[in-house]
Amino acid sequence: MIGKGENNNYYSYNDRKVVRRTEAFLYSGIFDFIFTHFISVDNAGHLHGFSDAVLEYAAAIEEIDGYVGKLVDAIRNRQTYSEEEWLVMLVSDHGGRGKGHGGTSPEEKTIPYIVEGLTVEPGRIVVPPLQVDVVPTVLTHLGVPIKPEWGLDGKVVGLK
Ligand SMILES: [Zn+2]
Repeated sequence: MIGKGENNNYYSYNDRKVVRRTEAFLYSGIFDFIFTHFISVDNAGHLHGFSDAVLEYAAAIEEIDGYVGKLVDAIRNRQTYSEEEWLVMLVSDHGGRGKGHGGTSPEEKTIPYIVEGLTVEPGRIVVPPLQVDVVPTVLTHLGVPIKPEWGLDGKVVGLK
């Protein structure tokens, strides 16, 4: 949770604590950017398998889906919501295969990439996005001009 001139770090392996902390910050915080990471889907993949056919993995995804819903509710209930221009991105840093990841298989490299907000181009994203597209997309939404000398690999994906 990055505010003006401050950096509010919070770390926990307990996703329930992470969502509660993020909700509280969303209701009262002043910031430009929030990054929230949930670990339980990755844990379920390593323990039981990275497949939606695996009940424990699917249950972990459903749990996080509920947490994301809580955070979106918290955003929309902000007193200043109507004056703000939110971009909500839901992405993963990797997929998985069997009980691991780190390889180059499509199962490991394919990620969810969901964007929502007023600056988002509605509809399905045709070209599969990559993890490296997150940074230029966030920077563009924040109004930061991307300089070629930075050598960013990604492209803006999902915005108008
Ligand atoms: Zn992992």
